[in-house]
Amino acid sequence: MTSHATRVLVLNSGSSSVKYQLLDMRDGARLAAGLVERIGEASSRLVHTPLAGPDAATAGKKRERTEPIADHAAALEAVAAELARDGLGLDSPELAAIGHRVVHGGLRFSEPTVVDDEVLAEIERLVPVAPLHNPANLTGIRTAQALRPDLPQVAVFDTAFHTTMPEHAARYAIDVATADAHRIRRYGFHGTSHAYVSRRTAELLGKDPSEVNVIVLHLGNGASASAVEGGRCVDTSMGLTPLEGLVMGTRSGDIDPAVTFHLKRVAGMSVDEIDELLNKKSGLVGLCGDNDMREIRRRVDEGDPAARLAFDIYIHRLRKYIGAYSAVLGRVDAVVFTAGVGENAAPVREAAVAGLETLGLAVDAGLNAVRSDEPRVISPADSRVVVAVVPTDEELEIAQQTFALVGDVRTPIA
Ligand code: AMP
Repeated sequence: MTSHATRVLVLNSGSSSVKYQLLDMRDGARLAAGLVERIGEASSRLVHTPLAGPDAATAGKKRERTEPIADHAAALEAVAAELARDGLGLDSPELAAIGHRVVHGGLRFSEPTVVDDEVLAEIERLVPVAPLHNPANLTGIRTAQALRPDLPQVAVFDTAFHTTMPEHAARYAIDVATADAHRIRRYGFHGTSHAYVSRRTAELLGKDPSEVNVIVLHLGNGASASAVEGGRCVDTSMGLTPLEGLVMGTRSGDIDPAVTFHLKRVAGMSVDEIDELLNKKSGLVGLCGDNDMREIRRRVDEGDPAARLAFDIYIHRLRKYIGAYSAVLGRVDAVVFTAGVGENAAPVREAAVAGLETLGLAVDAGLNAVRSDEPRVISPADSRVVVAVVPTDEELEIAQQTFALVGDVRTPIA
């Protein structure tokens, strides 16, 4: 019997963590998933769940280990050992490729790309614009290369989907020479999610992506909005870094840049302290001490004024972006909510579009209250614009893009 290499390992490497999923691309089934966290510390933790595969007896049974894992190489070896226990070893000829989430691809990478030395050098060159993420992503790729040097490693960039933004949306109104010298422009992030969700929304509407204009609201701990016209991104709320745009769990989103001068000159804070304040101690957590929308809603229901104000600021910003992107697109076919908050928090969805009938937006209270993992419409049947919830799946999108690039060039295995 002849079979093909149909598995893809998806790696999302952070500075001290690695998240992974192994998928079978014949049907997109998840074979295993897990994460290693606190890499480099004494109490590193590996959580691994086999989901399907040769050993049906172990499927669904989570395994956890806490032990020192010194670096990313040791982390990937530990993951490989867990996968091997389930008969899903990374030495298997069924593994077609490893797909890596890479946060910043700059202007150069508008498509998933098979990694070679030149691609690695370019990702490295982008470190100044993504100092937290790209070094970790590079470490993940190099580690995976060392483990399976024969296998295609594919980089899938968070910025790629946004490279179609026109210059008038991508440029900041600052001195052009300075901007160009330092590659300062709006790149946008969460692109894998915006691509996946906008395509799935077109499917939900029974149309081709080229026929529909969609506003995607990716509301997780990080949050971003995008305006997608006929399948192409024409604007997005994150910018040079993920700090711009919506109010997020711990990030401020849009702010007058002069606030930063003020914090330095008047409050005497260092640049690193301001960076930390705006990225880690602002947004919902800065406003009310909590960044989890479940907790914030619980406090709102109890009449807590700080939680109420945090919620109202969050919603106000969201509504401004819905209005702005309605103007950017002109004709809007769907507004779609995704990620942790967007998929689960009915009060956020309700408040985001309340009173926006003039923009053609409405939510049906009964449909909005339904909990489901499936893409679903939550607007009334006569709504001019469809309002929908479409669960995102960045790992599946990375695996599909990876497999589309390398799957068909792999030779059959006997
Ligand atoms: P993500 O970054 O997409 O994993 O989203 C994480 C965020 O989703 C959490 O910080 C919560 O604010 C939010 N979240 C998750 N589950 C729920 C829920 N059931 N209701 C409201 N918010 C939720």
